[in-house]
Amino acid sequence: MSDINHFIFDSKLEGPSLLCLGAIHGNETCGTDAILKIMTQIQQGHLKIGKGKLTCIPICNPEAYQRKKRYVHANLNRLFGCQEDFEAYEKDLVREISKFINSHDYILDLHSYHSKGNPFIFLDTDHQREVDLAKSVGIKDIITGWPEMYNEKDYTTSGYAHALGKISLTVECGHHHDPQSSIVAYDVLRKTLNYLDMVNFSSASIPNHHIVHANTIHYKAREGCFSKNWQHMDCLEPNEVIASYADGTEIKVLEKCYILLPYENAQIGDEWFYTGTSLEDL
Ligand SMILES: [Zn+2]
Repeated sequence: MSDINHFIFDSKLEGPSLLCLGAIHGNETCGTDAILKIMTQIQQGHLKIGKGKLTCIPICNPEAYQRKKRYVHANLNRLFGCQEDFEAYEKDLVREISKFINSHDYILDLHSYHSKGNPFIFLDTDHQREVDLAKSVGIKDIITGWPEMYNEKDYTTSGYAHALGKISLTVECGHHHDPQSSIVAYDVLRKTLNYLDMVNFSSASIPNHHIVHANTIHYKAREGCFSKNWQHMDCLEPNEVIASYADGTEIKVLEKCYILLPYENAQIGDEWFYTGTSLEDL
């Protein structure tokens, strides 16, 4: 048994089952804040689950959360559905959270990220109901193509859930230390409940979506720095210099694209930034 706490709010009426996950990465606390706020509203009688069942796991990696770290031994969001045997604190966590994913129809996994920029959704499914859900939670930016870019099996919560035919949304609610990310996470959770007809809020305005298809991983080969303080989803013009290595070699893009999750201080050999194109620009 792990030390994960879960909370079930069951309307006892037929309807969807939604599993909401926070702090899959221990240093990403916006989901935890949002889930605890919704739980308090339900417990105090200010919010009622009108049908179906909501299950909350506010802190999926308790030890990492306590230490304000991404993980203790292994990245929890690269372990779901993994058949390899491994020894890690996260082993019991992944086993237990997988059981919850197995028994729910919908999964909402709330994260934050290290770059400066706006919230966005990873969308990697042709399932129309998931596309519709993604477009109804009030987030403008949507990124597709992530698992194909890595060209390997997807061991994230959503990858695992999709393989089981579930609808699963991973939302990046903003920068780790931006207090706004908790507000975004709360809003996404409310709008998910609303979309599933589990609560009845007045319908909110839907933003014009900007969909970028990620297609290239740029690894940091040696010491170097960015040409400017890039923000996630900044637009890059053809031949624009993104970064240069200490020996003077410049890294440019040939066509108009968008920089994704830039991380100037990445370790050598790790992902430095990604690029992707918008269908609107083709
Ligand atoms: Zn994360």
